[in-house]
Amino acid sequence: MYLARSARFWGERPAILFRDGVVTYAELERRSNRLAHALAALGLQRGDRVAVVSPNRPEIVELECALYKLGLVKVALNSRLAPGELADALANAEPVACLSGPEHQSMVDEAAAQLPTLRHRIAFTPVVAQAPWLAYEDLLDAQPDRHIHVDMRPEELAVLHYTSGSTGKLKAAMQTVGNRMASLRKVIMGRMHASPGDVLMLSGPITHASGMFIQPMLYQGATLLLMERFQPAEILAAIEKHRVTMCFFVPAMIYALLAEPTIRTRDLSSLRLVSYGAAPMSPARIREAWAAFGPVLSQGYGAGETTGGVVGLTIADHARAIEGDRPELLSACGRPFCESEVQVLDEQGKPVQGDAIGEICVRGPDVFSGYWRAPEQSRDAIDAQGWLRTGDLARVDREGYIFIVDRKKEMLVSGGFNVYPSEVESVLAQHPAVYEVCVVGVPDDHWGETVKAVVVLREGTRAGGDEIMDFCRGRLADFKRPRSVDFVSQLPKNGNGKLSRKDVREHYWRGRERR
Ligand code: AMP
Repeated sequence: MYLARSARFWGERPAILFRDGVVTYAELERRSNRLAHALAALGLQRGDRVAVVSPNRPEIVELECALYKLGLVKVALNSRLAPGELADALANAEPVACLSGPEHQSMVDEAAAQLPTLRHRIAFTPVVAQAPWLAYEDLLDAQPDRHIHVDMRPEELAVLHYTSGSTGKLKAAMQTVGNRMASLRKVIMGRMHASPGDVLMLSGPITHASGMFIQPMLYQGATLLLMERFQPAEILAAIEKHRVTMCFFVPAMIYALLAEPTIRTRDLSSLRLVSYGAAPMSPARIREAWAAFGPVLSQGYGAGETTGGVVGLTIADHARAIEGDRPELLSACGRPFCESEVQVLDEQGKPVQGDAIGEICVRGPDVFSGYWRAPEQSRDAIDAQGWLRTGDLARVDREGYIFIVDRKKEMLVSGGFNVYPSEVESVLAQHPAVYEVCVVGVPDDHWGETVKAVVVLREGTRAGGDEIMDFCRGRLADFKRPRSVDFVSQLPKNGNGKLSRKDVREHYWRGRERR
């Protein structure tokens, strides 16, 4: 969006690091201009949708910049989607063009058979592109470097963000130009203020949620270090090698890094910010991460529907919880950023009082404009007063910190009592042998459903089901305690590395009707 300005200020500085190569700001501006000219020459017009599905690589950043230059809409797909999910998303988005690397080409070809709107398939090199695929580098070679730019209005569509599926069926949040601008301001002012010299490592898919950090970093002259995959030892080595200053991880990635032995020997002293979010993280693990990475942790809470984070727990909040007067703050997701209004509202739409539980609601410039081609779901998501109902249930304390209790749909009812799986999981996560845990309601003829814990044990430890259940005595009300425990070697995750409670629950409910 601001690339021409950044290229003028910081032309020879690195915009992107990838493998052992560097793309400078000047090169990025030149190459994204050429790509924009190439897409225009193919007949793509403002408002057309362009899908990209690939593991992280610099061309995705070039594409992101070219799309803004032409007013094209990015179809943001998680590169870890299963083939069926990818086909569903493409069928729903109906893109005019799709760019992809060798990893996804055959999946795109299969989906293309049902996609009459898809006129162009563009292959990232080094693949030898065979018709109908066009080679990315050939397209660029034929075009001039000349600057190209259209002025977009805030209400125009910029991104179709396909949700990870953690919250139900695959659907796309429509993020406008105005939403993306609000997101950019939030990142710069709140979460990730940066300068030239800062290096942000992105190891999650930048075709998807992690892509929201691209424009704010390019605006500030910082460097993006793109990782093709998340491999804990490689991640730690890259932090040391490139003197990374900032990272973004989901909790499951932090757990994997904490379990990687080289975390004790790598020099991580360049880090000044380790931002995490997208799913709850247990207080015990936050403490471990604080000890391993240093006083650099910051948490964000948000969704595709809010164009990124809307609430954050700052480094200072972490310090206050770990070294100061409010240890319970490690169970909070933080306090609202300044861009949008964030309130915890009751069923009547009033702010909750005292210890009451309500739903986190968001209103303002970063709230999406609805779901693509799903007017009914859009109406359900945003109420008559303009509040986005996130589906996350929470409490607020006297200082305005928000404590998520659970997702509305994930609450289970046992014998008439509401049980929030996250609350039970956060207690079980304190057991020294528990590496990861998922709590679900399972069918029970007497109680409707009862609480089951599905546990992954830490390597080299042992614990039986009775011991795990006893651990909750005195820590949780009787009706919340697990009545059964299963042990597994791993828990199902979605493409973003988030625990897929849905899959665990389905395993126990197969063939049964819930409530
Ligand atoms: P998605 O749109 O797929 O990114 O999912 C958004 C959902 O992820 C939110 O509604 C929350 O349920 C969950 N989430 C995001 N950030 C956090 C966080 N910091 N702590 C707990 N849950 C989170």
